[in-house]
Amino acid sequence: MATHPKTGIKVVVVGAGFGGLTAAIECHLKGHTVSIYENFPALKTLGDIISFGANGGRIFHRWDEGRISKRLRELSIDLSEYGFRIHKYDTGEVVYHQRNPPANPETPIFNGHRGELHEVVFNYARDKLGIPIHLDQWVEEYFETPEEAGIVLKSGEKVTADVVIGADGVRSKARELVLGYVDKPKSSGYAVWRAWFPNTDMIRDPLTKEFCENGDTFNGWIGPDVHFLFSTIKNGSDCCWVLTHRDEHDIDESWSFPGKLEDVYKVLEGWDPVCRAIVEKTPSLVDWKLVYRDPLPTWVSQHARILLLGDAAHPFLPTSAQGATQAMEDGVTIAVCLKNGGKENVQAAVRAHQEIRYDRVRAIQKTGETTRDRWHKTDWAQVAADPKSIAFPREEWIHTFDAEGHAEVVFADVLKKVTNPQAEAVEGASILPSAPAVVAV
Ligand SMILES: Cc1cc2nc3c(=O)[nH]c(=O)nc-3n(C[C@H](O)[C@H](O)[C@H](O)COP(=O)(O)OP(=O)(O)OC[C@H]3O[C@@H](n4cnc5c(N)ncnc54)[C@H](O)[C@@H]3O)c2cc1C
Repeated sequence: MATHPKTGIKVVVVGAGFGGLTAAIECHLKGHTVSIYENFPALKTLGDIISFGANGGRIFHRWDEGRISKRLRELSIDLSEYGFRIHKYDTGEVVYHQRNPPANPETPIFNGHRGELHEVVFNYARDKLGIPIHLDQWVEEYFETPEEAGIVLKSGEKVTADVVIGADGVRSKARELVLGYVDKPKSSGYAVWRAWFPNTDMIRDPLTKEFCENGDTFNGWIGPDVHFLFSTIKNGSDCCWVLTHRDEHDIDESWSFPGKLEDVYKVLEGWDPVCRAIVEKTPSLVDWKLVYRDPLPTWVSQHARILLLGDAAHPFLPTSAQGATQAMEDGVTIAVCLKNGGKENVQAAVRAHQEIRYDRVRAIQKTGETTRDRWHKTDWAQVAADPKSIAFPREEWIHTFDAEGHAEVVFADVLKKVTNPQAEAVEGASILPSAPAVVAV
């Protein structure tokens, strides 16, 4: 993709997760001058499985003439043969075999190790595009005036810009400035145990070796208020599972809080023995508490010079499989809004971004709850009559969406609306499901 001529708009992005990196890459490609400030001191392959829907794949595919998506493909699960097999938790029978949709090279789907995929995108931003990424820089404070916005680093140094994008994750500090209060998370009542490990012990066990000897696999066991998802990746050489279960404990949101295997075994009592056989091979696991946050009243600061983006604005439940992709759609949209608005209209462009994104994000957030409830309160008689009813939903309105194309089309009208609140609502500004179109493929 050719880089747009310089716009003269200076953008500071806080956070180099997928949201911050996408915002920075897209701002660079649209001609803005962008730099990133990130707390971590060095890139580490942290985390485990992460999902990008076709609407995220479309964004990756446009970068570096398809080279980024090619690299991500090599690291991601390939389910073109195997699909997704959904089991009843106790008998282990496969109640539904969900095939993958036909591959579209322009809208690839990626599921892989968060750290490995992240490294590809990080290196593209830093090494290929030359975006300055300042590591080991904890942002202490945000500030703004009607003319500019800025951040204060731990060293006391101030950095100013036309707009600051707070892509600083679920525990965002930028959110404090935007809202004027600390938005405390509530327990969602669920937590996820998560693990990623090599297949060494799996291939020694007759109960589990089939998952590692025939390419990539994806299986889910659905039980009362619990679901266990297991995948093998990179031709079956890496194994990954996540188990969502009831949990009211109140600990911090963290990707590194250790979990205990004995606790997992208790939840799996009475389950298909294959599940325990998989879990027994796990060297270590993470206990990740799923917190709930009410939708924020706004993502935009008082003077519209600071914008919250990605998890800072709208965390997702993993059952939506859209958290990272929605952070990417945000990044694309703000870059387009700033380009089309121009340097004189930065504040209106930031407001237009929220107008374009807010309802779509909210509607997709809700799908995380509906899928979880569909699985956790399964009516097995209904599944027997209609096996598709237990499928993982892949709604067209989510996955076929082109965030960039959409922003280009609606921006001018949305700009009029945000600069003149009396104006009529902009038709089609927020892409929402016109009908409850759950397309199980
Ligand atoms: C270490 C880690 C591991 C993860 N592992 C998984 C996983 O395995 N599976 C999954 O589905 N999702 C995972 N996630 C979450 C997932 O990446 C996000 O939900 C999604 O990609 C949206 O990303 P984001 O850019 O909005 O936020 P994040 O990915 O959370 O990125 C926010 C970034 O902001 C930085 N930051 C925060 N505060 C400051 C500050 N004050 N100053 C400077 N920098 C700051 C953080 O260090 C972080 O890099 C992980 C996130 C992290 C941070």
